[in-house]
Amino acid sequence: MNVILLGPPGAGKGTQAKRLEEKYGLTQLSTGDMLRAERKSGSELGRKVQAIMDAGKLVSDDLIIELIARRIDQLKGGKGFILDGFPRTVPQAEALDRMLAEKGLRLDAVIEMTVDEAALIDRIAGRFTCAKCGASYHDRFNRPKAEGVCDACGSREFVRRADDRPEAVKTRLEAYRRQTAPILPYYRGKGVLRTVDGMAEIDEVGRQIETILGDPI
Ligand code: ADP
Ligand code: ADP
Ligand code: ZN
Repeated sequence: MNVILLGPPGAGKGTQAKRLEEKYGLTQLSTGDMLRAERKSGSELGRKVQAIMDAGKLVSDDLIIELIARRIDQLKGGKGFILDGFPRTVPQAEALDRMLAEKGLRLDAVIEMTVDEAALIDRIAGRFTCAKCGASYHDRFNRPKAEGVCDACGSREFVRRADDRPEAVKTRLEAYRRQTAPILPYYRGKGVLRTVDGMAEIDEVGRQIETILGDPI
């Protein structure tokens, strides 16, 4: 099963992707996590994207398409993937269609998570993530079960993202409206778009997504 989670920054894509990995055995492909890993490793790509990411702007389509194509190539025989943070522009969505067609893969669902802007700003302001596995937590809405220990991987190191500052958040929300929202009609036209209420609590959003995807195979 291959699924896209689509929604503005802070909508809860990463949080739900981790749940789907556990429940369905799917692999999360987060372009944001991939880029952050490149930066941490000090690679040339990482250095190239640093300033763009911190400003809250989108990295070029060519670069992202190459990054994701390599990852999809490496996924052999798994149960499928969850794309989180990709595609983010119409050219990226078109490139994804070509990549999947070449490999004989298909998209089972594109799930749009709707959240109003005030809530997004609140969520991003309180977000912190596991430095090791990227799991997302929140100061008020989603603390680790054991204080200071990642639920998913046991790491004790957490980070706050440089692009979660208010000015960068404004730019990211604007980029979503201008560059990413136009892919909604693209997928609606293909009949694969489904929408969940991302304002609900984390477990409830998860149940809505599971209702769409059905029972694990
Ligand atoms: P969020 O979780 O807040 O939606 P991400 O972690 O997905 O944000 O992305 C962080 C940043 O990485 C983006 O602001 C952008 O600079 C870059 N980025 C991630 N995915 C893409 C993409 N598909 N296309 C262009 N830029 C991307
Ligand atoms: P995205 O990947 O879409 O940028 P995240 O999954 O990182 O979003 O979630 C953003 C922040 O909001 C995190 O701090 C997360 O713990 C929190 N969060 C996620 N889903 C919900 C929800 N349904 N209700 C309240 N807070 C949430
Ligand atoms: Zn972790």
